Amino acid sequence: MVLLLALAPLALFAKGRTISKIVLDAGHGGKDIGARGAISMEKDITLAVTLKLGKIFADSMRDMQILYTRTTDMYPSLVERHEIANKADADLFVSIHVNSTPFTKTKRIVGYKTVTRHHKKVKQPIYQTTTHHTTKRSGVETYVLNLRRNYQKQEAIGEYSDNVTEETGLLDENDPQTAIIIAQYAQVFLNKSVSLGSRIQEQFENQGRNNLGVKQLPLEVLAGSAMPGVLVEIGFITNIDEETYLNSEEGQFEVARAIYRGIRAYKADSEK
Ligand SMILES: [Zn+2]
Repeated sequence: MVLLLALAPLALFAKGRTISKIVLDAGHGGKDIGARGAISMEKDITLAVTLKLGKIFADSMRDMQILYTRTTDMYPSLVERHEIANKADADLFVSIHVNSTPFTKTKRIVGYKTVTRHHKKVKQPIYQTTTHHTTKRSGVETYVLNLRRNYQKQEAIGEYSDNVTEETGLLDENDPQTAIIIAQYAQVFLNKSVSLGSRIQEQFENQGRNNLGVKQLPLEVLAGSAMPGVLVEIGFITNIDEETYLNSEEGQFEVARAIYRGIRAYKADSEK
């Protein structure tokens, strides 16, 4: 397990920090396309939104230092993404992803054929299996790092978590070192991460998007960076309406603006 490098500096960042440096992490990239929709790939949407978010900071909050894990179609590993954040001693880690729903298979009878069996002619159905990858689900959810508290919670997270964990990696909850990482993170960064996530979700709700809430999972992508962090799932690539929206310039700017305003509100809260 490669996440332990972040363990040592954890306690250093506990208190008294203004927020002046943010790492923006465009999910996936290069060979890792992320989720695929009908007209686009997750890696391209996450990059476009991330760059727009950076531009909003450059225009509207000039003293904020923005670092990127990638600015082109390349794939930094999770470790490399964490290293960028930790070496820069950043104050926040914001990872941007696009949600998806699992494939479902439907088998239906499309006709019949006659076959001979035991010297008798019998009619047999012809099946066709179709795979659907579309959903009417919509909205935005934000993940923070934590162990799932109990099975019920795990159930409640339902199919979303399956997608998130498939694409970003899940820590082994039975590994004692995972418990240490998460316990330390929980002590120092969890509340802050939840606050940041809530602020971001509020902004999406203000824009009329469906607020799916702040959720906790032992996500590998958040475990290695020694700072509060969130993973924002900005919409469903498997919902054609949201996919179209997320591929439009206007939609991308709106999403970036919601995240920007969420961070700005969180910054104001924490500097009170
Ligand atoms: Zn993703």
